[in-house]
Amino acid sequence: MSDHDFVSGSKPIPIDRGEGPYLYSDDTAYLDAGASYACTPLGHSHPAVVEAVVDQVGELTFVDSSYPVRSREDAYAALVASTPAALDAAWFCNSGTEANEAALKFARSATGESTIVAATRSFHGRTMGSLAATWKDAYKEPFEPLAGDVEFVPYGESEALADAVDGGIAAVILEPIQGEGGINVPPAGYLESARELADEVGAALVLDEVQTGMGRTGSMWACQNVGVTPDVLTTAKGLGNGLPVGAIAVREWVAEGAGSHNATFSGGPVVSAAVDATISTLLEEGWPAHAAEVGDYLMAELEAALGGAVREVRGEGLLVGIELKRGANRVARELAIDHRVLALPAGRTVLRLLPPLVIERAEADRIVTALADVLGGTGS
Ligand SMILES: *Cc1c(COP(=O)(O)O)cnc(C)c1O
Repeated sequence: MSDHDFVSGSKPIPIDRGEGPYLYSDDTAYLDAGASYACTPLGHSHPAVVEAVVDQVGELTFVDSSYPVRSREDAYAALVASTPAALDAAWFCNSGTEANEAALKFARSATGESTIVAATRSFHGRTMGSLAATWKDAYKEPFEPLAGDVEFVPYGESEALADAVDGGIAAVILEPIQGEGGINVPPAGYLESARELADEVGAALVLDEVQTGMGRTGSMWACQNVGVTPDVLTTAKGLGNGLPVGAIAVREWVAEGAGSHNATFSGGPVVSAAVDATISTLLEEGWPAHAAEVGDYLMAELEAALGGAVREVRGEGLLVGIELKRGANRVARELAIDHRVLALPAGRTVLRLLPPLVIERAEADRIVTALADVLGGTGS
C-alpha cells in the first residue's frame, strides 16, 4: 500500500516548491487558496520563518524540554503575549488533536469532573479523546469505543447549551467558528453565553482555535473578536507556518490540572523558532488586520459575482465558506485543474477558502473569477 492510499481526495498535481500564496508544479503556479489547511498564514516558505528554522536546526536541533532553551522561551513569550491576558501559561505539543487532548485532560483534572460538552458538526482531531468530541460518525465508528462522557448540543444554540451545562461538567469545547463542519458562524452572543454558563458551573471553556487562530479572522485569535476569554485556547495548523506544532494557552487554575501530562517533543527548539518567527511577523507586519480587509473584499466580490449560483457566502476575515448547490469536491477539482486555484471542501456542499493572510485583492479577484467560471455566476 502506497502512502497515497491513505490520502483522501488526493490530487494529481506534484508540488515542487512554494512561495507566498503560490505552490509550483514544475513551472506552473497554483494559487493556494486553502493554505494547505490554514497551515501557512504567512505564505509558503516565508523567509523570516525559513531563516529562523535553518539557523536553529544548525545550532541545536533538539534537546528535551527539561532544559531551558532560548527559542522555546521566545516562542512561549510570543504566544502568551498574543493571547488574552488571563491566559498566562502555555504548553507546546505537536498537533491540533494533541492540543485538544491536553485541554480535555487538564480540564478533567482541574475540575475533578468528567463530562465534556461538545457541539454538533464539531471537529477537534482524530486521536481517541479529541475524536470523541468530534461530531461526524464516519470518523468515529470504526474506532469505537472512544473516550466516554461526551454530550453533544446543537452548535450556535445558547438555550440548548444552557440545558446541557449543569453540574458535573469538566469542559465545554467549541470552535469559535466551525471549520471542517462547514464554516459555521455562530449567532451573536453565543460564545458569551458559553462563557457565562461555564462560569456558573465551574467548567472549563475550551475554545479550539486550531483553524480560526493566527490572525485569520481579523484578530490574532477569533475569541478576541467577541471579547470572550476561554479557560483554554488550543492552536496548531498555522502556528509554525507549516512546521508541525500545536499549543494550548491556559488560565492558571487549569494549568494546575496539568498533572503528569507531557510529550517528548514538547517545545523543541526548531518548531519553537518557527512559532516565534511566525507570531512575531504576523503581529509586527499587521497581517490580522489585512486578513479582515481582504476577507471583507473577497466575500463581497464573491456575493456580487456568484449571486444565485450559490446558496450562501459566509465567514470572517479569510475564513470563508461558500454553500454550493452541488458537490464541493468536484468544484474544488475543477478549480484546481481548469483555473489552478486550490480550495478545500468542508463537508459535502461547502467550499472552503483559507488562503494565506498575505494575499492581495488581485489574488482575491482571481479566486472570484475562477469560481464564477466554474459555477456560472449571475454576475459574470
Ligand atoms: C485541523 C483541526 C484539528 C486537528 O488538528 P491536527 O493537527 O490535524 O491534529 C482540530 N481542531 C480544528 C478546529 C481543526 O481545524
